[in-house]
Amino acid sequence: MTGTTGRPDRVVLLNPGPVNVHDRVRAALAGPDECHREPESQALLGTVGGKITEVCGAGRDSHATVLFTGSGTAALEAVLSSVVPADGRLLVLDNGHYGERLLRIADVHGIATVRLEFGWAVPLDLDAVDQALAADAGITHVAVVHHETSTGMLNPLRELGPLVARHGRSLIADAISSLGAEDLDVVRDHVDWCVGTANKCLEGMPGISFVCAPRERLEALAHVPARTFYFDLSANYRAQVVKGSPQFTPAVQVLRALDAALDLTLAEGVAARTARYAARAAEIRAGLEERGIELLLPPERRAGSITNAHLANGMTYDELHDGLKEHGYVIYATQEKSAGVFRLANMGQLTGEDIAGFFRAFDEVVARCAPSTR
Ligand SMILES: *Cc1c(COP(=O)(O)O)cnc(C)c1O
Repeated sequence: MTGTTGRPDRVVLLNPGPVNVHDRVRAALAGPDECHREPESQALLGTVGGKITEVCGAGRDSHATVLFTGSGTAALEAVLSSVVPADGRLLVLDNGHYGERLLRIADVHGIATVRLEFGWAVPLDLDAVDQALAADAGITHVAVVHHETSTGMLNPLRELGPLVARHGRSLIADAISSLGAEDLDVVRDHVDWCVGTANKCLEGMPGISFVCAPRERLEALAHVPARTFYFDLSANYRAQVVKGSPQFTPAVQVLRALDAALDLTLAEGVAARTARYAARAAEIRAGLEERGIELLLPPERRAGSITNAHLANGMTYDELHDGLKEHGYVIYATQEKSAGVFRLANMGQLTGEDIAGFFRAFDEVVARCAPSTR
């Protein structure tokens, strides 16, 4: 790759994870070989879980984090398949690709669901949620995506949480693309089951995902039969957290990298990371608007880590993507229902110079691909 990203070997990732990581995170992957049943490796699970619990805003006495080897969807599947009892019902709030995914996971496991479908990039209607819960006493759990990565919309978890709690139901939040970079506090926001992943705003490597929950809720799962063997949240909790030894072989090296990434997250602080991401997002949004490119969402609905923009200048996504890739910049398409829109994420270790370099490459690609329309 020839690349204009400042370093010949560096690809600038503007996709929503995996992200450009800190050199300390990359170095942690290449530590000594180790056996996951030795005390120092078993201790790592507790250390990493504790740091994640802290990032979630909870105390280590009241809450615990259960780790899974697998991408974000693995932990989502663990929660959905483990916490809704056979006679329970799940209300899914759906306003994008990932909301729909929650529903599809529940369907696979034969879980009874009620779907509130708002449409892509349409804000959640909290009155409708209130009414749905009031109308159906059989709904035991509510599932929501905090940052709907498909559209870049941030859903109002802080308002939703107290509402669900008022109805006495249990809230499951997919915080996979928000944790670490958005304001989220599982205690304040009444999130019972908070799902996250290593390789987005926590800036680790892909391969580990997790669930943070109150210990008493995790204990109570002993009475809910599991629907899967590997992703049995209760069994993994008992082995990993209660007994301090993982149920299966974890991706130990990826955990080492996540441990380093969590140290960096806690040292920076979530509020400072939110501000850093906001600065990159502002550079991206200003750069696009200067070029007459229309953004998808009104500013108050946008998360701080993604910008969805309409393709312009008669270019196709593939032309734009492939041209930028030659310069060392990776952009992202959108899922099916937002054709003609591309995404620029600003998760990870990105500098203002990365964004400036991106726009230099962007202008060159546009000039080369669509000279007649400019
Ligand atoms: C990335 C993401 C996921 C999980 O995707 P994986 O490919 O399994 O890591 C789930 N939900 C949201 C909101 C996401 O952004």
